[in-house]
Amino acid sequence: MEISTVCVHGNGQKDQTGAVSTPIYQSATFCHPAVGQSTGYDYSRLQNPTREQLENTMALLENGVDAIAFSSGMAAISNMMELFSPNDHIIVSDDIYGGTHRLFSHVSVKNQIDVDFVDTSDISEISSHIKDNTRAIFIETPTNPMMKVSDISEIARIAKINGLITIVDNTFLTPYFQRPIELGADIVVHSATKYLGGHNDTLAGILVVANMELSQKLRFISKTIGSGLSPFDSWLIQRGIKTLPIRMEKSQQNAKEIALWLYAHPKIKKVYYTGLENHPGHAICKKQASGFGAMISFEVDCVDTATKLLEKVNLILYAESLGGVETLITYPMLQTHADVPVDIREAQGINNKFLRLSVGIEALEDIISDLSQALDL
Ligand SMILES: *Cc1c(COP(=O)(O)O)cnc(C)c1O
Repeated sequence: MEISTVCVHGNGQKDQTGAVSTPIYQSATFCHPAVGQSTGYDYSRLQNPTREQLENTMALLENGVDAIAFSSGMAAISNMMELFSPNDHIIVSDDIYGGTHRLFSHVSVKNQIDVDFVDTSDISEISSHIKDNTRAIFIETPTNPMMKVSDISEIARIAKINGLITIVDNTFLTPYFQRPIELGADIVVHSATKYLGGHNDTLAGILVVANMELSQKLRFISKTIGSGLSPFDSWLIQRGIKTLPIRMEKSQQNAKEIALWLYAHPKIKKVYYTGLENHPGHAICKKQASGFGAMISFEVDCVDTATKLLEKVNLILYAESLGGVETLITYPMLQTHADVPVDIREAQGINNKFLRLSVGIEALEDIISDLSQALDL
């Protein structure tokens, strides 16, 4: 079945009422028909029918064997980190979401997991960092916020040779544009808060796995830790996914035009959008994904332009997060990446002139005229 159809219908399973919209099973516990028997549901920390519907849809969309839904993207990644033990080493993209950076560099390190932040867009960098105790490679592609692209199948190939698992945060492109498991990845991570939910109204996270061994390990961890997604939030994400294809198409269409418009603007010094042919990751992104998405980062000429732009936008909202129907503008230095040490941040280009735009599905002309008036100081 085509991906747009799977987004609308999931696995097509209905409950006994035939409800077209999966009911919200707002129940913490489930009664048993007889001793030693179960309806398949015992307690919602373990399984819940509404959450399961979303998990089935996500497993189908990413072509995995199972998916597990969590209360946020960070909850998903935190649960995943329980796969590792003290003295394990993992290689991580040097440019990643600030919260993930904070988790790895504060919490994981406290748990004695050795984390190396590496430029994973450079394959030789990865190979040279593999050690005897390396267990996994964790990448974002494109990265948040510098839009660096890593070659998923090449990384998965190197990982397999060395007995490592490949983990890909696929938040930016979603399975509509990119399916890492088909390229050899073992675990796909999502902040479903972003494009999957799509309406800036729900926090959620998903892990999709390529094999049953990982599924069993992660289900054991998730039922033990207990940060599964609530029935209502599962329903909201499931509903969001139904329109994922048309939202991705429309926001991408807008983003392509806005990237070109920014590129031509005298006050814009650099534009990072993987859909631009001069972007260093353009060719690899084109090879491994069917679209470039709708995230654009850019650098303006001076701090004054950056602050005025943030204050003068009307339609565009100055807020963190991304992937919703509303166009949002973010100041990574003060928001998403505020906890990344200044030297590391600056070296990556996340400075006080650097902004990130999550392009929504509004009319293109309205987004551009808002940017235009806000830049015209
Ligand atoms: C937002 C985000 C996360 C964290 O997800 P939450 O749902 O906010 O916890 C992880 N990875 C990426 C790429 C993100 O953009």
